[in-house]
Amino acid sequence: MAQQKFDVVVIGSGIGGMTAAAMAAHKGYKTLVVEKLPFIGGRFSTREWKGFKLTSGAIGVEVGGVMEKTFKELGLDFDVRQEEGMRYRIGGQDFEMPKRGGLKALINIACGDEKEADRIYGLIRQGWKWQEPPGTLTFQEWLSQYTQNPKILGFFQGVLSAMLGGNIWELPAHAFIRFQTNMGGYRAFGVAPKGNTYLMNQLADVIRKNGGDVWTSAPARKVVVESGTAKGVVVQKKGQEVTVSSQAVISNAGPRRTIELIGSENLDRAYIKLVRDTYVPMSVMWLQIASDKPLLPYHGMLVPAEARRVNLINCPTNVAPELAPKGKSLLIVGAAPKSMTPPHDFKGELELALLDLKDIIPGFDNAEILMASWFSGDWPVLHTMPGHELPNKTNIENLWQVGDGAVPQGWAALPGSTLSGRLAVEDMERRLKPEA
Ligand SMILES: Cc1cc2nc3c(=O)[nH]c(=O)nc-3n(C[C@H](O)[C@H](O)[C@H](O)COP(=O)(O)OP(=O)(O)OC[C@H]3O[C@@H](n4cnc5c(N)ncnc54)[C@H](O)[C@@H]3O)c2cc1C
Repeated sequence: MAQQKFDVVVIGSGIGGMTAAAMAAHKGYKTLVVEKLPFIGGRFSTREWKGFKLTSGAIGVEVGGVMEKTFKELGLDFDVRQEEGMRYRIGGQDFEMPKRGGLKALINIACGDEKEADRIYGLIRQGWKWQEPPGTLTFQEWLSQYTQNPKILGFFQGVLSAMLGGNIWELPAHAFIRFQTNMGGYRAFGVAPKGNTYLMNQLADVIRKNGGDVWTSAPARKVVVESGTAKGVVVQKKGQEVTVSSQAVISNAGPRRTIELIGSENLDRAYIKLVRDTYVPMSVMWLQIASDKPLLPYHGMLVPAEARRVNLINCPTNVAPELAPKGKSLLIVGAAPKSMTPPHDFKGELELALLDLKDIIPGFDNAEILMASWFSGDWPVLHTMPGHELPNKTNIENLWQVGDGAVPQGWAALPGSTLSGRLAVEDMERRLKPEA
């Protein structure tokens, strides 16, 4: 069996893994990323189809947050074109979220009763300022104590499913409060006009320029564990098993696959139980749609607050025409299924999403669906449900987990995954010096 030596091996090239690897390489650690697929980026990558640059997952990239900060620190080109803020469709009309007092104003529009809006906003505010609602109740159970108004419940279902990818009858009550506190509900976001892969390739360049490497089509088969400490990774490369020894291992493979790679015999039963009880990868239906003319007039996302399934609509080519062939537009649509976990009735859910789109978008019948698929299981919208975050460490020393299965509390998606990569490297620096 061939042998190689690096300071750090990162399993998986998602944004969490690539952030960790690029930061580690930048700090002088000889770093190897191994990716099982033939391309890098995981759920933040680009696939070319009929001249369109389609996303393998995320489209909205936070601007002015932790990802931009990371790119700046590494001297990279954060080529993200900012969109306008979100709009909400309530009662057939579209409203912008005002910069100040926005949530309260929207609740007021949704229920048409200023006093009730004040009361409900007061509860949310109390969650921020004083005591967050319990995680033992779903958001719907918590809110239903104070209002049965279906317009308010419907509004929050639209907002939470767009922002957190889940339903109010499944998300824990505190998830929304924590998300607003830490991520501010994505104050600003944009799209990558050259495609997500352009951004990921820059992180790969940092790794290579600093003496590291990125292997694609190279699945990790096993984490080597000796006396409770990670010592490297066994990787399949070009039909051969290669043992890469390292001081540190960073896994971006998601909690369930990381357990398999470490081997449950090496892990505390408490951790395995925690993952079994808490780990809920969340599903979403994602449609990528071509048209001759823009199907949405906005330079930003629309959240239809009272739809059957559709929870966000974005026409990224309005700000980044480069994502489509000349004379074409791209529409991206997210739809939250009735339950965030499989099994799903794909046909039934798609029918409901298409009914929504016909209601919301004039001229939708002439559009071409380029891709309609579930993101679930090992390729979910989020690995862990907001409010049920898992730790980034197990009992195995010098092994960290990154990605949206290992975000700090109140974080999610691209910003949370990026932060998880940075935190793992900061912790590693406190323990290990570069050697290889
Ligand atoms: C449809 C959809 C829409 C989304 N929209 C947004 C959005 O608009 N904004 C936003 O901020 N977030 C969005 N997200 C969430 C965001 O994409 C994810 O949170 C983020 O990309 C997760 O990154 P990650 O670090 O967890 O890695 P992942 O993207 O999960 O990558 C992990 C990588 O590890 C590899 N891997 C797994 N096992 C092995 C192994 N054994 N050996 C080698 N490699 C392995 C996988 O192949 C994969 O490439 C969306 C997600 C989806 C699916």
